Amino acid sequence: MVLVIGESHARRHMSLYGYPRDTNPLLSARRGELSVYTDVVSPQVHTIPVLRAALTFADWDHPERLTTYPSLIELFNRAGFETYVISNQPLLDGSSSYDAFLKLADHTVDLSARKAPDGILLPPFEQALTAPSDRPKLIVLHLMGCHIGYKYRYPADFDFFTRLNDTLPNAQPDLTPEARTTVDEYDNSVRYNDYLLSTLIARIEREHTPAALIYFSDHGEEVNEFRPFNGHAYEKVTSYMCEVPFLVWLSPDFRRMRPDLRFDLTRPYSTVDLPYTMANLAALRFQGYDDTRSLLSPHFRPRPRRVGELPYETVLDMTRKAKERQRAPSFFGSLTRRFAE
Ligand SMILES: [Zn+2]
Repeated sequence: MVLVIGESHARRHMSLYGYPRDTNPLLSARRGELSVYTDVVSPQVHTIPVLRAALTFADWDHPERLTTYPSLIELFNRAGFETYVISNQPLLDGSSSYDAFLKLADHTVDLSARKAPDGILLPPFEQALTAPSDRPKLIVLHLMGCHIGYKYRYPADFDFFTRLNDTLPNAQPDLTPEARTTVDEYDNSVRYNDYLLSTLIARIEREHTPAALIYFSDHGEEVNEFRPFNGHAYEKVTSYMCEVPFLVWLSPDFRRMRPDLRFDLTRPYSTVDLPYTMANLAALRFQGYDDTRSLLSPHFRPRPRRVGELPYETVLDMTRKAKERQRAPSFFGSLTRRFAE
């Protein structure tokens, strides 16, 4: 099983999800083999709180499960998997953060010091995939993905969308040249991520062994969508920051082995419940397992979703209002401007 954790990857910028720019040429070619979930949100909009939630059984009702339950990696260790974590983000010693949970893997590789695009994860992935083992494997990849500093996330030959060939869709008419460049660079990082995920799937496929890959992004990103802002910050939270891609790919053998799984792509889901989906996919059963919280279970039941302290519906409402405010300057705002003129 392969779990790929993306970074700051907004599904709105993926052509797989309808973005008019072709940011997913390779994954789109595999569309028929991919389960592309359309309504998955993150439980926060910053890496640390999201991964503390997604890599453990802790949730809003049971924060104590951060320590009283095994974390995701620990669960797979105990179930007899050989576990690998290959990261392009630092695996520090901070026991208060999520890296403490990733470091529980049997094998860890931290390439973050090289400050290179995510392609540097491919050689250690190859090693993990082909290392002799009589146990099933869980390989977790933690990407730098589409993190801010977008132009550093892809090699020069992925400098595809530029102002020269600009077909930027739905652009604000008043988007500055700098803001347009930021969107171009962000979309290039999305297109590089498309290459990376496709390369991983193609490589796994060649093993001809039952295999599954799950991809999700820790949180989304706002990229000059309706106001001059790019990034993610809870105090400015919008739906762009919490609506994430969630993809499942299964090898034909794996799919045949698991006729019990359901693929209902419109299920509303939060990655706070990721451990239940991972456990279900690996056919693990344990005290505390709740089948209604697996995205792939026939017994799935939607649950209220929160982004930090806010219900997701409130975030949608706040986003709508923020866009309205941006479109319609206040009476006093226009009065001030008239004075300025
Ligand atoms: Zn992040």
